[in-house]
Amino acid sequence: MACSCIISFLQLCFYRIKSGFSLVDMLFKASHCEHCNSKIGALFLIPVFGFMLSEGSCQHCNKSISVKYFIAELCIFIISLYVCFQFIIKSSYFTI
Ligand SMILES: [Zn+2]
Repeated sequence: MACSCIISFLQLCFYRIKSGFSLVDMLFKASHCEHCNSKIGALFLIPVFGFMLSEGSCQHCNKSISVKYFIAELCIFIISLYVCFQFIIKSSYFTI
């Protein structure tokens, strides 16, 4: 989940750099809908689960959120789980 948060934040930074945000706004401005500019609630900022909770659309204007963010977060989430399970399996090898 931590890796998904990092990837989600990096996606946000790339989007804001591309959109011409200042450094302060890029790092500290609250996440908002790119259509209606309304602030996104904390629950909907959770990677993977936030997209599923919102059913892929803004809670204010009901316009769709690009699925590319969800796919990137999901891929990183699955890879992170795989790496964690590999680490647990390998670490249990050494303790037996
Ligand atoms: Zn919106």
